[in-house]
Amino acid sequence: MSEQTIAAIATAPGEGALGVIRISGENAISVADSVFCAVSGKPLSSLKGYHAAYGEIREGDRRLDDGVALVFKAPHSYTGEDVVEISVHGGSLMLRSILRLVLSKGARLASAGEFTKRAFLNGKTDLTRAESIMGLISARNEAELRLSRAAHSGRTVQKIAELEAALTAADASIAVYSDYPEEDLDGMSLEDFEAMLLTAKCELEKMLRDYDTGKMLSQGITTAIVGKPNVGKSTLMNMLSGEERSIVTDVAGTTRDIIEETVNIGDITLRLADTAGIRETEDTVESIGVKLAKQRLDSCQLVLAVFDCSRPFDGEDTALLDSVRDKNTVAVINKTDLGSLPDLSLFDGIPTVFISAKKGDGCRELCDAIAKAVNIGNLSADSAVLLGERQRDCAVHALEGVTSALEALQSGCTIDAVGVCVDDALAALLELTGRRVTTEVTDEIFRRFCVGK
Ligand code: GDP
Repeated sequence: MSEQTIAAIATAPGEGALGVIRISGENAISVADSVFCAVSGKPLSSLKGYHAAYGEIREGDRRLDDGVALVFKAPHSYTGEDVVEISVHGGSLMLRSILRLVLSKGARLASAGEFTKRAFLNGKTDLTRAESIMGLISARNEAELRLSRAAHSGRTVQKIAELEAALTAADASIAVYSDYPEEDLDGMSLEDFEAMLLTAKCELEKMLRDYDTGKMLSQGITTAIVGKPNVGKSTLMNMLSGEERSIVTDVAGTTRDIIEETVNIGDITLRLADTAGIRETEDTVESIGVKLAKQRLDSCQLVLAVFDCSRPFDGEDTALLDSVRDKNTVAVINKTDLGSLPDLSLFDGIPTVFISAKKGDGCRELCDAIAKAVNIGNLSADSAVLLGERQRDCAVHALEGVTSALEALQSGCTIDAVGVCVDDALAALLELTGRRVTTEVTDEIFRRFCVGK
């Protein structure tokens, strides 16, 4: 248990009905008792854990506020230490004056993430769940919240624990086999061993695939809207964003820069770029825009290729279609209000949606087609999700270790060589959940938290 008792305002700055001051550590209850007088007259130290008292916060004879003190007794608290949470009226000045009083009674101001860091150090949480708390607090959209909830539910740590257990058992067998090579692999045949490594490889690959999908969902899908000038790209972007942002005119070649916009459609966030129309041009400024459009097209995760169904489909349309055929593309046939449809056989294999961007028709169908194109359905509610680049790096290293172990086994290397690779994989998994992690890594993780968490 840490010796120092820490305190901080746990609620967001600004005005609120309630504000909470959290105190944690060996002296949390005595510190709280020195500022809080329960109406019952009983000290907080006489309360059982998970019990609350109503009373006044007092600085000597002066009453600062009335409120409720909630007592948690170690180890049954968020941090695993004694904790008192005092709820008072939620004004910034009020909370700061009470915090100052608490600090004057022997607590010190908690640093960013220190409550959660103590929870981790006291074995109340692993690193994947601790990091998910950051996600729960800072989620910018529904998808990010859903991913953080999944990690917080403990599914990730459970999956990693299963992998760790399998690799640890294999490691133990390898150790016995190295000492007594004439024995079988401690009850595990080489075939079983290989099958176990293959399963671990598949699980890690799935987690990494889900990570990419999750990242697309939480950070937004980089999307390029491409098409010939005047097909209605800017109008489509405005339809999706619901605002007049792009320059819409009927002079071909008006949109010369890339304009970016973030749009939430249901669960999906699109990072849309309305680009210059892709076409051959003599105009120097426009040609820069065309170059940017091509670069965006190469790097994006989703392409919305827009076509104008009121005009005959020409060679430029076909060339555009061919250039996006091998990408994650939705073909958007625009201006349906003007009638006449192109030959649909040209779109062979590419999901096609009909819209009138000007009238706002077909928006729902377009959203459904986008959700399908980016494969969001792959990420199920009980997926073991990885949050953040740190966890992803650990999973990549674990996968490298497992893959090398498999290769070593299949190419007839010594069992010791296989064992070295399994050890590498295990070390990466232990770092992922924080069971074997350096102080520097831990400090870095919790520094990113807010004070009071
Ligand atoms: P961009 O060059 O591809 O960005 O095309 P714009 O969005 O600037 O649109 C070119 C012209 O087509 C403008 O006059 C728009 O009002 C018009 N337009 C766009 N979408 C539609 C549509 O669905 N129906 C009709 N009738 N006109 C449209």
